[in-house]
Amino acid sequence: MLSKKLEEALNEQIKNENYSAYMYLAMAAQCEAANMKGFAHWLKAQAQEEFSHAMRIYDYVNERGGRVRLLAIDEPPFEYGTPLQMFEMVYEHEQKVTGLINALCDLARSENDYPTQTHLNWFVDEQVEEEASASEIVETLKMIGDKGHALVMLDRELGKRGQ
Ligand code: MG
Repeated sequence: MLSKKLEEALNEQIKNENYSAYMYLAMAAQCEAANMKGFAHWLKAQAQEEFSHAMRIYDYVNERGGRVRLLAIDEPPFEYGTPLQMFEMVYEHEQKVTGLINALCDLARSENDYPTQTHLNWFVDEQVEEEASASEIVETLKMIGDKGHALVMLDRELGKRGQ
């Protein structure tokens, strides 16, 4: 059985993962409107991945005999500026999520809940990947600067995600 404290914290993280999905989908919507189809594709895939993270925790809470509570998801921003500003925000957001996962690990450890610690290890590894891929796109966008043709190339590259 999960402790009440851990159950609440995991429900909070289900909401956080869904907020990430919602924010990446809002970013994708801006890219669709700007005809940046590759960026939109990458961000929609990212949104789906975040929803799958929420579901991983959802399934885990149920497996441990806890009760899932779906908390309200905030409205994400509507405008994200330039592609560079947008991906700087993705990178910052993923660093924030890493902090949230670390705090959950601390809580699971202080509650002596070993299965939850093991479950969270997957998320610890996942965050390393998330930060690395966001940071790589930020660095590429910095190199691109205002070279429109290079941005078109990156758009094509991002459009290949999952293929
Ligand atoms: Mg996530």
